[in-house]
Amino acid sequence: AKQDGRGVFRFFEPGLDAAARRRRQIELDLREALHKGQFRLDYQPIFDLKADRICGFEALMRWDHPTRGLVSPVEFIPVAEESGLIVAMGEWALHEACREAQRWPEDMRIAVNVSAIQFRNSGFANIVVQALSRSGLDPRRLEIEITESVFLEGSGPTLDLLHRLRALGIRIALDDFGTGYSSLSYLRSFPFDKIKIDRSFVAPIAGDASAAAIVRAIVDLAGAFHMETTAEGVEDPEQLAALRSQGCSSIQGYLFSRPLTVEGVRKLLQDQGMK
Ligand code: C2E
Ligand code: CA
Ligand code: CA
Ligand code: CA
Repeated sequence: AKQDGRGVFRFFEPGLDAAARRRRQIELDLREALHKGQFRLDYQPIFDLKADRICGFEALMRWDHPTRGLVSPVEFIPVAEESGLIVAMGEWALHEACREAQRWPEDMRIAVNVSAIQFRNSGFANIVVQALSRSGLDPRRLEIEITESVFLEGSGPTLDLLHRLRALGIRIALDDFGTGYSSLSYLRSFPFDKIKIDRSFVAPIAGDASAAAIVRAIVDLAGAFHMETTAEGVEDPEQLAALRSQGCSSIQGYLFSRPLTVEGVRKLLQDQGMK
């Protein structure tokens, strides 16, 4: 072991390649980050196409690392999941998001990402109840975003938990729909409030007839189950026009707004005369 000058011991492990060493280091740093408050949430507006206004925000975790700068969740969330740290990080995010959303106008919802590992942790329902009671947020304003991977290890307990959460008044969205383990049987077995259409289908929608056909099929399917749809990653007006004509309920993407800081959200809500 050698000291790196900040009083922290780093171990050089010759068996690990550079990528693995970076992961290992991220894991060590994540533990510290949680205690030192280096995480924050940014919030990306979700725009309702029918009401023609913002209907809520998705909370997206950000890690402001003291030396690496802003680390992408694409990099640190998988490490957090593997190490189990996601449970504590996710609990922090739920509390933080509910507390912030409580300050917004009452018709603004907050969507919080919940990793499958966090969802399957036995304390999850209680954590949600606590976040709601401590913040005073109306449960109907909270939406949790889960992916199909929550069903991987048997759907019985997952369905029980989903029904429990639903009984609290919380909304449930199925995130990244169409990627990964998609099976239409999930839609039959649980009445999700919303399906989020993955950016990989939305991106080519304007020029590619087959991508457009897939999005149309998802929107129609959702409609048949009385579920809303949010298209993710909408970046240009052509995509927006296509999504509108296909009857998609809401959009999220750089075209309307990038994820905003807490201050950015407050300013946006003020400018829109919503506060
Ligand atoms: P996601 O849940 O699918 O979130 C959407 C991602 O798309 C976000 O990336 C967002 O910034 C990005 N995005 C939004 N609009 C556009 C657009 O128009 N174009 C493009 N190219 N990208 C757009 P982000 O913030 O980097 O998050 C990546 C992923 O990390 C999320 O994907 C989610 O899976 C995970 N994540 C983020 N925050 C949390 C969290 O608090 N808990 C958990 N469990 N996962 C999180
Ligand atoms: Ca999401
Ligand atoms: Ca997504
Ligand atoms: Ca995604």
